[in-house]
Amino acid sequence: MSKRVLITGAAGFLGSHLCDYFVERDYRVVAMDNLITGDMANIQHLMKLPNFEFYHHDVSKFVHVAGEIDYILHFASPASPIDYLKIPIQTLKVGSLGTHNLLGFAKAKNARILVASTSEIYGDPMVHPQNEDYWGNVNPIGPRGVYDEAKRFQEAMTMAYHRFHGVETRIVRIFNTYGPRMRLNDGRVLPAFFGQVLRGEDLTVFGDGSQTRSFCYVSDLIEGIYRLLLSDYVYPVNIGNPSEITILDFAKEIIDLTQSSQKIIYQPLPTDDPMQRKPDITKAREILDWQPLIERQEGLRLTYDYFRELSSEQLNKYEHKSFEDFNKK
Ligand code: UDP
Repeated sequence: MSKRVLITGAAGFLGSHLCDYFVERDYRVVAMDNLITGDMANIQHLMKLPNFEFYHHDVSKFVHVAGEIDYILHFASPASPIDYLKIPIQTLKVGSLGTHNLLGFAKAKNARILVASTSEIYGDPMVHPQNEDYWGNVNPIGPRGVYDEAKRFQEAMTMAYHRFHGVETRIVRIFNTYGPRMRLNDGRVLPAFFGQVLRGEDLTVFGDGSQTRSFCYVSDLIEGIYRLLLSDYVYPVNIGNPSEITILDFAKEIIDLTQSSQKIIYQPLPTDDPMQRKPDITKAREILDWQPLIERQEGLRLTYDYFRELSSEQLNKYEHKSFEDFNKK
């Protein structure tokens, strides 16, 4: 029998790519999502497959799945700064209570669990690039605190379950990732800029655009996560692309790529917006023999092609179809 893997946040951006990855490798996939920010359209193509099951469930509540589970990948969480403002309590709960439930579930099933952590645990970093030994600079009570602190709690809880209960745990610290299936209206910089280009609006750079990010294409990230899951390394590992760019240059790159005539306009910098971010991926290279392969030019092109395929209706008012629309096998 092939191994059985539970993926939470399965209808989201990363969760749905993980579902594809595991289904293609003949795992039996149990997908779970409460669909607050996920979209069934992302996994619609998997719903009829015999090795794919979907549960509409909020992992902040007790988690139960009948039968054996070998691996758990906990990817349920809002992941965009505007989501943290709109649904702060759910963001806190899924990172804390949800993680606790899934660690208990892993213990009960004798399963290995990998949790999705984030570069946000480094906050507005005083160390550059960020390596895994840096403890971070986080404002607990700012608007992003609900995400950052839930993820920091998640790491603490995960290490405690490993040390106290002997659960097999893995922690990936994910840096900015992009690709098809990002929500066009999720407020993050890449879908924001592409959406603006496609609607013929000017690109909104926050602050003076001198803040930096380092963008990783989704297929590279998923490969790194898979290697970490199968490794025997229990401490956090950064996965991301160290190619760093200012947000202003990023906006210019997108204007060039799309050959658009849009201008750049400036808007206020959000509270606690980190000024610089770049992963040190020495550990991932050494332990997982992993490094990103997709250059930004190529990844942006693939992502733009995806957004261009969306209908004008989706572009202007991007709404998710309901769970019921997709739950018909
Ligand atoms: N940003 C921007 N214009 C936008 C959206 C975001 O200039 O329309 C900036 C934002 O202030 C941040 C960077 O782009 O400095 C990345 O923001 P994002 O929300 O994608 O994720 P973050 O890395 O901050 O979690």
